[in-house]
Amino acid sequence: MWKTGGTHTLTDATRKRILNRDQHQCTATMRDTGRRCPATSNLEVDHITPYSQGGTDQDNNLRTLCHWHHLKKTEAEAAQGRQAKRPKPKHPAML
Ligand SMILES: [Zn+2]
Repeated sequence: MWKTGGTHTLTDATRKRILNRDQHQCTATMRDTGRRCPATSNLEVDHITPYSQGGTDQDNNLRTLCHWHHLKKTEAEAAQGRQAKRPKPKHPAML
């Protein structure tokens, strides 16, 4: 069975701690502008090193990403093992 890397579940306490640390804003950098992603909704806590690749639940391996950036990262990780063609979602901040 094929599993994605992003299915490991964090506790609510950990999620809240990371969101507070990151001021409830996506921590990704916009490639176009070089500025921090302005998204403050649809936020998800991401494992920088995927849990499936030995990443931990330590704060230094966790960061806040908006749904869009989290999706992009998950897709990039999946694409390492297989070729996937899917329509590109638009970032809400760029609409
Ligand atoms: Zn973002």
